[in-house]
Amino acid sequence: MLNITRIEPLLMHWPRGGSSAYVRLTAEDGTFGLGEASPMYGGRASLQIVRDLAGDIEGRPALDSAVLHDTLFHKAIKLGPDGALAGALAAIDIAMWDLKGRLLGQPIHRLLGGAWRTTLPFYASIGGHGARSVDQTVAEVERWMKKLEPAMVKIRFDADKTTRDADIEGDIAKARAVRRLVGDGFPLAFDANNGLSVQGAIRIGRVLEELGYVWFEEPVQHYHKAGFEKVAAALDVPIAAGEQEYTLGGVQALIDAGVGIIQADIIKTGGFTGLNHVASLTRAAGVDFVPHQTQPVIGHVASMHLVATLLHSHHPVEYSDPWGRQDEVFNNPPSPRSGAFTLTDAPGLGLELNEPALTARLEPAAQVP
Ligand code: CA
Repeated sequence: MLNITRIEPLLMHWPRGGSSAYVRLTAEDGTFGLGEASPMYGGRASLQIVRDLAGDIEGRPALDSAVLHDTLFHKAIKLGPDGALAGALAAIDIAMWDLKGRLLGQPIHRLLGGAWRTTLPFYASIGGHGARSVDQTVAEVERWMKKLEPAMVKIRFDADKTTRDADIEGDIAKARAVRRLVGDGFPLAFDANNGLSVQGAIRIGRVLEELGYVWFEEPVQHYHKAGFEKVAAALDVPIAAGEQEYTLGGVQALIDAGVGIIQADIIKTGGFTGLNHVASLTRAAGVDFVPHQTQPVIGHVASMHLVATLLHSHHPVEYSDPWGRQDEVFNNPPSPRSGAFTLTDAPGLGLELNEPALTARLEPAAQVP
């Protein structure tokens, strides 16, 4: 069996701003796989952990992703287990699955057991509405609807997490205006981004029920499980959360609090290996599983490979960045068609890297922390 011979943390800079944390693992025969970590503060902390773990990865069997995942998780657990460590392990695991697919000549969805569907409808995840007027919110949603023809829309308020209930009446007015724009029956979700008190959340949630919203996301602080419990108990609209959970224990606490839609993220929650464990937990609990995902290429495609294999993940997948921010690094970036993405049978993730473009966007190694 081939071993991993090289691991590269790749800090990418994008022309329109922002950065991404990619990882490349190369096997003895030169085949490589790509992964991605959560880009919080550019993902620099995760890439430093990848760098620190390199000696424990090089020389390991290229196909043994689950063993390597748990080996590294337990070895470095005091760096986490939440946050930057989980992101680092996610990037390594995604790269291992991409590598595995390339070595075996199969798409990841097939190696995971087969896809129930390879065409996946998506929802447009549209942020920034907290800072917009009602009219601006409607105009922005309309712009995305025309550009993408999504199967569903989520309006995010991107609240300042240090405030509470900044504009409840405005939030309600925007929820109503967007419902008027799209018409009755079109699926909508509302994401408070942790900006509400329990009482504020219940006020808004009652309006969302009246308006037929599909879910009410992160009404209160993600660490306030008792708050989730009170909101979930008071409302019929499903509460969604989990993008800020990294462990099975964290997800279980949300399920116990009555959260009905779990949204753990493949680039934060241990890649395919970690997120598959979360999927099993949600299946056992009978709650919905709609992975969070806001990175437009590696993270997005990896997440769809997993979702394609899950019988019970029936909501559209998240898509939040249709502006081609990372496209130049790939010859075949994901492209939405009629409200859906379609996975191919190409090996691994199925992404073709444009090596010169990657080099051009790479932060020089000397500047990586
Ligand atoms: Ca969210």
